[in-house]
Amino acid sequence: MPLRQAHREIEKLKDALAYAEAIIDAIHEPLVVLYPDLTIRNANQKFYKTFKVAPEKAEEKLIYELDNGQWNIPELKIFLEKTLRTKTSYNDYEITIPFKKIGKKIMLFNARKIIMGGEKKPMILMVIEDVTDKKRYEQQAEKEKNILAENQRLQDISRQKDDFISMASHELKTPVTSIKAFAQLLEQDFADLGNTNAAKMLSRMNLQIVKLTSLIGDLLDISRIAGGKLQYHLSYFDFNEMLQDTVREMQLTTKIHTINLSLIEAPPVFGDKDRISQVLTNLLSNAIKYSPRADTIDVSTCIDEEFIRVCVRDCGIGIVKEKQDKIFQRFFRVNGAKEDTYPGLGLGLYISSEIIKRHGGCISVKSNKSRGSTFCFKIPVEGS
Ligand code: ADP
Repeated sequence: MPLRQAHREIEKLKDALAYAEAIIDAIHEPLVVLYPDLTIRNANQKFYKTFKVAPEKAEEKLIYELDNGQWNIPELKIFLEKTLRTKTSYNDYEITIPFKKIGKKIMLFNARKIIMGGEKKPMILMVIEDVTDKKRYEQQAEKEKNILAENQRLQDISRQKDDFISMASHELKTPVTSIKAFAQLLEQDFADLGNTNAAKMLSRMNLQIVKLTSLIGDLLDISRIAGGKLQYHLSYFDFNEMLQDTVREMQLTTKIHTINLSLIEAPPVFGDKDRISQVLTNLLSNAIKYSPRADTIDVSTCIDEEFIRVCVRDCGIGIVKEKQDKIFQRFFRVNGAKEDTYPGLGLGLYISSEIIKRHGGCISVKSNKSRGSTFCFKIPVEGS
């Protein structure tokens, strides 16, 4: 070959090499070329940058010696041996390497054997992809998927529980209503016959049936609230009359307490009279239940801007500050479910707050442990 032509060929080869090296450098993933004995021939910029090593500390060094032997790990050895043994390539081999400089990383190794020049043994071209973030994201997504599935499972269980409460309370309601009617008839009959002892016992039995009916009523109400089916019969009604009637009925349930009423002249109220009476009944029965050593309970009303406010004050056991915002939650009881000094299901205040909210008002408590509680609710009134 003439000398000039040989020069041209050499120039062409140099250009091709420069072109290949430029491509390697432009590749976005770390890439390294290894001699058959696994010393590093060269690597691209991304490799040096990612693993924070200088080219002079890497080139012509055994890959296992790189960066104080951090690459000297059994899995990588297995991978490289497999690559040397296989015919052309080895793909997507995942290895976790605890790098000192860049921390623990999950790397995906891809390798190709390349035959260069007259070399008999092949070199290895190895591309390393950092999939740590991708893996973390996948794990996170998996975790979120599991949490969603668990949430769904809990929601299903909760719905089954609500369905059961609803069904059980419906089933209980009819027989208890009949028992109540028969017990009242019997009480009357025994009283007419002059059997005062039996009449007294039946009167006590009636009281217990009233309590049972009220519990069943609460259970029915919470399942209706959960299903958005609590019905309201709205009309204008005489607010003070409703308060006086409710207080009169509740006074019959206690011999220890006197319920004092202090009412302002109330404007007409638009709402469900029975439901609001139910709220007052609940506040009064709590005031009675939770103040066994006191003898008075005060019910008062006042106008608060466009609302009428009703307050029920007792001198009972009170509620510690930290629990006051929780007592309107479903099933919450200050002393837990096992508290048998003051029996209850922790439903009354939840139902009351739902009723008051539906009337556009709110319910609140002020209390001091051992010094009594004041529960107030307010609902909108017209013309105040
Ligand atoms: P229940 O009385 O059936 O447990 P409630 O929903 O009516 O359910 O009340 C929730 C909790 O709030 C009660 O368990 C009790 O701990 C507390 N509580 C309610 N009213 C009073 C009160 N007047 N004095 C002290 N604690 C009260």
